[in-house]
Amino acid sequence: MRIILLGSPGAGKGTLAEDIVKKHPVAHISTGDIFRENVKKETPLGVKARAYMDSGGLVPDELVLAMMENRLLEPDCAKGFILDGFPRTIPQAEALDAKLAELGLKLDGAVLLDIDDDTVIRRLSGRRVCRKCGAIYNLFFRPSSKGDICERCGGELYQRDDDREEVVRNRLKVYYEQTAPLVEHYEKKGSLRRIRAEREGRSETLLEELERSMGVSR
Ligand code: AMP
Repeated sequence: MRIILLGSPGAGKGTLAEDIVKKHPVAHISTGDIFRENVKKETPLGVKARAYMDSGGLVPDELVLAMMENRLLEPDCAKGFILDGFPRTIPQAEALDAKLAELGLKLDGAVLLDIDDDTVIRRLSGRRVCRKCGAIYNLFFRPSSKGDICERCGGELYQRDDDREEVVRNRLKVYYEQTAPLVEHYEKKGSLRRIRAEREGRSETLLEELERSMGVSR
């Protein structure tokens, strides 16, 4: 299974990717996670990427492509991969097309998780994380019954820097300017599938709908 997950920040790509890898023997490749890990360890790549990430902008293509150059050759990708947050620009998509052609690999498809901007803003700007145990709450959808204290461990809840509303709005703007054109790129290739990211009123989970639309239920 080789899938690209597309969709604005907050659409739920990471959660869906986690659900996929619990059931299918494929690698979850999140460029955002790789960058966050590098920022935490203060590697040269992390130091360069940090300023772009903090403002909600994109890390330059050459850094992203250098980091991804040999990723698909690693052993965990032997049975496939889920790309989450990559590609994010047309040059990245073209570089990925060339890489897949070079390796003789075919994509099963690019899946767009469709979601309204208002929902994204409330999902991300309302998110609060416990400093102590990492539990995640949401002021709008899943508030802590103890206000800004974690129900589970009593830790303090805080807001991630890139979840501040002005940063979220910038991430959305960047998405529409630089990443949304990928929808047409994959539509033209005939490999695009669209799934509503909100589940209200739907009986299937996101994972079930994805498996059905890709014909990969196992
Ligand atoms: P994410 O967790 O996917 O939202 O990524 C967090 C941040 O990492 C983004 O806001 C970008 O600054 C950076 N990033 C992740 N993936 C890419 C990519 N493919 N191209 C450029 N920047 C990226």
